[in-house]
Amino acid sequence: MHIAIIGAGISGLMSALELAEQGCSVDIFDQQQAGQAASWAGGGILSPMYPWRYAPEVNQLAKHGKSLYQTWNEKLRPITGIDFQIHDTGMLIFDQEDFEIGLNYANRYQEPMQQCELLDRPQLQQVNPHVSAQFQQAIYFPQLSSVRNPRLLQSLIYYLKQHPAVRFFEQCPVGKLVIQNKKVHGIETEDGQKFTANHVVISSGAWSQLWQQQIQRNIPVHPVQGQMLLFKTPANWLPTMCMNRVMYLIPRQDGHIVCGSSMADTGFSTAIDSQTQRDILNACLKIVPELAQFPIVKRWAGLRPSSPEGIPYIGAMPELENLWANFGHFRNGLCMGSGSARLLRQLILGQDTLIDPQAYSPQRLKQHNLMSC
Ligand SMILES: Cc1cc2nc3c(=O)[nH]c(=O)nc-3n(C[C@H](O)[C@H](O)[C@H](O)COP(=O)(O)OP(=O)(O)OC[C@H]3O[C@@H](n4cnc5c(N)ncnc54)[C@H](O)[C@@H]3O)c2cc1C
Repeated sequence: MHIAIIGAGISGLMSALELAEQGCSVDIFDQQQAGQAASWAGGGILSPMYPWRYAPEVNQLAKHGKSLYQTWNEKLRPITGIDFQIHDTGMLIFDQEDFEIGLNYANRYQEPMQQCELLDRPQLQQVNPHVSAQFQQAIYFPQLSSVRNPRLLQSLIYYLKQHPAVRFFEQCPVGKLVIQNKKVHGIETEDGQKFTANHVVISSGAWSQLWQQQIQRNIPVHPVQGQMLLFKTPANWLPTMCMNRVMYLIPRQDGHIVCGSSMADTGFSTAIDSQTQRDILNACLKIVPELAQFPIVKRWAGLRPSSPEGIPYIGAMPELENLWANFGHFRNGLCMGSGSARLLRQLILGQDTLIDPQAYSPQRLKQHNLMSC
């Protein structure tokens, strides 16, 4: 079976991996270099932030993320030499209004990964001695982890590029789907090359709305910009992830600390601005004031593929045969990435699925109103 995948972010690359490992041959196309868009820009927290604020569908997929990534890391690392560092730091949340609901959430929804406890100041200091003295309490999630997403992408790209069943087409924007008699037969690149395939997967992230005219369904996926900045501290300096007022610190093993993030509608612009960067910096220094002594070594922005309630579209597209979706993961595409690709592969190959696919079905995309173009 031959599959064409449009978009080489986490959604497309993980889908390619799942399908290639099941014996499919895969062509994967990206309009730029593979793995350079939202999936590179994200933080890599392997759980929705404040999971109780998200739809159960988001949490259900996310809870498979860590264990699937662990298994893939073990399989890929001997071949790629790249460890994508699943970092078991746990997370502290300082928003007092979330303490009670956070403490009850894990038990109510049978979520072992979200088990948490309330820490007082002495306990907090033991867990993370760098947290500002203004925080007297926190809820602590010892089992929450992060993945070093740029390395995860590097590993996937390296592995897939040496895979005999996979071909990469980078700097190669796909312009059209090749459709005949309500069946998709392949894709056409913007420079007019046609590639046939038995199945086509759309995993084009924040750009996915571009397909709505051709498929005649509204695709309510828009880019939402998020900015970040990166500190460099000594290795293992900050022992836990920290979260306050939707701003977070994510420590990497080598001492880099990813800090973010903002939310803004800037179209497809990934330009950073000084006000937003100042806001992120102030929010992070409020949590860990000692960070002020360390250098900021990088700043960037990425485009999240927003979707209603952040529930991604995964599965067969309506009306057109052989066309599949894996897009619209909004703020949680890294933690949902491995589970989403597993589900998509199982649906394409007619296998048992790891969760009920109904809630993610693209059949919920509404008829496209051509008058609104
Ligand atoms: C600042 C920030 C922080 C985040 N933090 C987290 C986090 O901690 N945890 C978490 O789980 N998620 C996080 N996210 C969200 C996560 O990064 C995204 O949900 C996820 O990366 C989306 O992956 P994707 O593969 O769908 O999209 P992308 O990574 O954007 O990939 C889509 C790809 O499709 C390509 N493409 C588009 N159109 C075409 C075309 N016509 N032809 C060819 N190629 C095309 C693009 O070039 C791109 O490479 C964060 C995002 C941001 C921006």
